[in-house]
Amino acid sequence: MATIEYLKEADDASIEIDQEVTDAVQDIVGAVRDRGDDAVYEFTERFDGIEVDDVRIGDAEIDAAREELTDIEKETIDNTIANVRAFHEQQREHISDFETEFEEGVRLGQRIVPVESAGTYVPGGRHPLVAAPAMTIVPADVVGVERIVTCAPPQDDGSIQPAQLYAMDQAGADEIYSVGGAQAIAAMAYGTETVPSVAKITGPGNVFTTEAKRQVFGHVGIDFLAGPSEVLILTDETADPDLVATDLLAQAEHDPNSRPILVSTDRDIAEATVGALSEQLPNLETEDVARECWTENGEVVLAETMADAIEVANEYAIEHLQVMIDEPRSIVDELTNYGSLFLGAHSPVVFGDKAVGTNHSLPTLEVARYSGGIWAGTYCKTLTHQEATEAGGARIAPWAAKICELEGTHAHRLSAEARLRDDISPEYGP
Ligand code: NAD
Repeated sequence: MATIEYLKEADDASIEIDQEVTDAVQDIVGAVRDRGDDAVYEFTERFDGIEVDDVRIGDAEIDAAREELTDIEKETIDNTIANVRAFHEQQREHISDFETEFEEGVRLGQRIVPVESAGTYVPGGRHPLVAAPAMTIVPADVVGVERIVTCAPPQDDGSIQPAQLYAMDQAGADEIYSVGGAQAIAAMAYGTETVPSVAKITGPGNVFTTEAKRQVFGHVGIDFLAGPSEVLILTDETADPDLVATDLLAQAEHDPNSRPILVSTDRDIAEATVGALSEQLPNLETEDVARECWTENGEVVLAETMADAIEVANEYAIEHLQVMIDEPRSIVDELTNYGSLFLGAHSPVVFGDKAVGTNHSLPTLEVARYSGGIWAGTYCKTLTHQEATEAGGARIAPWAAKICELEGTHAHRLSAEARLRDDISPEYGP
């Protein structure tokens, strides 16, 4: 057990999704499944405050978005997309087909095949996240998904924010719809008259979006649960409190439900960071959300030793883990649960979130205990195959038949025994 002291605790550290949210989302998902477009329009009016009767975004709107952006804005978005593409192409190189003769006459292999269609959700209710399309669409495009469908919440006039729309198109989306939240997830899972159903849905969102993904899982695949953003910054006595405070606030502005957490081995640094954070808050344009988030969900943990701090970081299994200690690389091997790791004072989370090329769609809610973030493999299936020659099959047959005998699976046993050959098959047992 780590020796720690809480200098500040979250009001409610529970990471469970509220039953109220679960019930509300169940109603939305059920209605969209049963009534299609009509239900989508109804929930768009209720939750996004606008009346719509068509959610498909056409070429004219994409062209208008392109016109609206300056060259430097387009270049900036293109830069992020190019970096994300380069990183995920490298990942694709590391997932590969193989076929090997494991024993004489028995070849086993795997093929990596993309899912046929993907529904990529791009959040946008609170802020139209401009780097987000690259994170979900590019990896799907890189591995060759045939039909990439994208949904994002509508603005007040029913359109999608121009920078987001430009990014979706540039990243490789085939079809774009202005639908947000749980109704978007349900539409892509079950299909409506307008929105097609897809094989796998990916992308982060607020609690409604995330809960909807949980509820449609099974009918479609999902990447994982990625809710409100989280950061854990781990410091020792060498960290700069102003910088640490700035980086904590960068996550706090996402959502009142975000989780900014500081774990330090040094009391002075921890206290100075809290002081710096109070000083910086009033200067933020997004002060309201960041303050609510820090007040309710911010945590400051003092750890006795670095080993204690590492244990705490692994227990949190946080989305973004930022290490601001003297020699960040010295502890990398001991850090086992995180979505993405940011090493040193010059590698803030915002780089990974917006520009550097790694993926920012990352697991939250302790999902990092069993999953990493979106990557090229998220959109792939690993399909295995086997082929035995007559002689190879005759050598495998007794072993398979014996397992069937132990199980009492008679028809299976007969299937195996039909491949026995007296001159080749080994005798049963010792
Ligand atoms: P969102 O797009 O997920 O949700 C917006 C939609 O929510 C709206 O269109 C509306 O239809 C629906 N909605 C709003 N109020 C509702 C209600 N009361 N009941 C039912 N539906 C309702 O976007 P957002 O709200 O901007 O949240 C984005 C979230 O994504 C943030 O929490 C951010 O931290 C998170 N995020 C996570 C990652 C990650 O990788 N984990 C990355 C980027 C963003």
